[in-house]
Amino acid sequence: MGNNLAILLAGLLLMACASTPQSLTYREQLDIYKDMKIRLYQVGIPIKLAGVGVCSKTRIDKGVLYHKLRDYPEKLRPVAQSYWGLGADDTILYEGQSGHVSACQAPLVLDYDTIPNAYTDGDNIFVTSGLLNEIDDLALSLIIAHELAHIALKHVDKEPSETLEREADRMALFILARAKLDYRKAALQDVASKPPHIYAGQKYLDTSKRADHFRGVIGEIEKLEEEGKALVP
Ligand SMILES: [Zn+2]
Repeated sequence: MGNNLAILLAGLLLMACASTPQSLTYREQLDIYKDMKIRLYQVGIPIKLAGVGVCSKTRIDKGVLYHKLRDYPEKLRPVAQSYWGLGADDTILYEGQSGHVSACQAPLVLDYDTIPNAYTDGDNIFVTSGLLNEIDDLALSLIIAHELAHIALKHVDKEPSETLEREADRMALFILARAKLDYRKAALQDVASKPPHIYAGQKYLDTSKRADHFRGVIGEIEKLEEEGKALVP
């Protein structure tokens, strides 16, 4: 009996190990990261298009996603080189449907970190692999729009506060509505009731207030839609 239990526990332990990224081959890890980059790009494009007129910097989007060796974790680079032939120069990773349209300039960068988080340095938007593993595309849209709003509102140089977070959330919901995404569902699902960042000082003091704030912004957008007015935040 005791032995059987020990064998069973060992079996469960092996199964648990098999599902962790550490047990994947480097090629499998690279393929996962590649898919994450493509997903970030695909979900980000409608947000960057809808943000034109709101964001501070725009550029012509060529509809092409590039990657290069330096975009991957150092230990995976030798394999990325032999597996994909990647080098120092940009290589096409993915070609999308849209192209040569004006879009907000805010490169989406995959951050190889298991901790779920998203943040911006004022130019780029960083999303961790840990966050991508946890959320659906609609939640990801809201998070990208929130970071884009931080860039548009030039929040990076300011002292982090709940006020800035509320401003970013308000603009993010407007961007989602402009992108014709289900902004109500995005704002009221689970992830939206959590703090937008993990850094101290950037947190909502009370996350229930975040949902209340979102409900207020939904009312604002609905009123504009009913009146047939432009969705300008
Ligand atoms: Zn924020």
